[in-house]
Amino acid sequence: MNFGRQVNVKTTEELQTMRASGRINAEILATVKNLIQPGVSTADLNAAAEEVLKKHGCYSPFKGYSKPPFPASICTSVNEEMVHGIPSKKRILREGDIVSVDSGTVFQGFVSDSAFTAGVGVISEEASRLLEITEGALYAAIDKMRVGNRTGDVSAAIQEYVESRGLHVTREYTSHGVGRQMHEAPMVPNFGTAGTGLPLRPGMTIAIEPMVLIGTHETRVLRDQWTVISADKSLTAHFEHSVAVTDGDPLILTVP
Ligand code: MG
Ligand code: MG
Repeated sequence: MNFGRQVNVKTTEELQTMRASGRINAEILATVKNLIQPGVSTADLNAAAEEVLKKHGCYSPFKGYSKPPFPASICTSVNEEMVHGIPSKKRILREGDIVSVDSGTVFQGFVSDSAFTAGVGVISEEASRLLEITEGALYAAIDKMRVGNRTGDVSAAIQEYVESRGLHVTREYTSHGVGRQMHEAPMVPNFGTAGTGLPLRPGMTIAIEPMVLIGTHETRVLRDQWTVISADKSLTAHFEHSVAVTDGDPLILTVP
């Protein structure tokens, strides 16, 4: 993926548009989350997301993205699938599965990008610990989105939070700047060294997305050329918010 080199600092007005975009994206994720139960297909989840997009006159930046063009409006990644899973009528959610839903919205030219992972019915203790730790890493990283810090502080927060709890962070897929493009500079890995990288400035917007694996940090891509799975097929999870740096506290754009 090409993130470019230009860091696009957003104006107050642009941040308001991104916030509106993020609010719609949050509505999509809430709608999809409500549908998650045994017997539902991942294509059903995609259809529900598309209805919300349509209602708001928006579209997903995922659909048609890259090569081969991504064929759906959300990514649905089940169990060992970490990210970029393709919704399918054949993929029926079963009791005990965990499913990551990643959604993007383009509203008035600005992208919001957010994801959660949820259990289907009752899930194992191991799976629920994975979800808690991955979401915890997201909020630890968001708390670093402050003037005075650098991108390396965000990366290090994710890595420390996850690895101190005995789990693994992905090496190949990263958090990223977001704005007029889904992927902009800066690229922010899920691992790194505090005090390094680009200084954070008000108006910088980053989609922070810890991707966490139980057994290994290694991944591979399935033959569909999209779905990323853990190399050892251990469970994986993924949480994401688009977040703006301000003069004060970090502003999470992708909440209701
Ligand atoms: Mg995403
Ligand atoms: Mg993203």
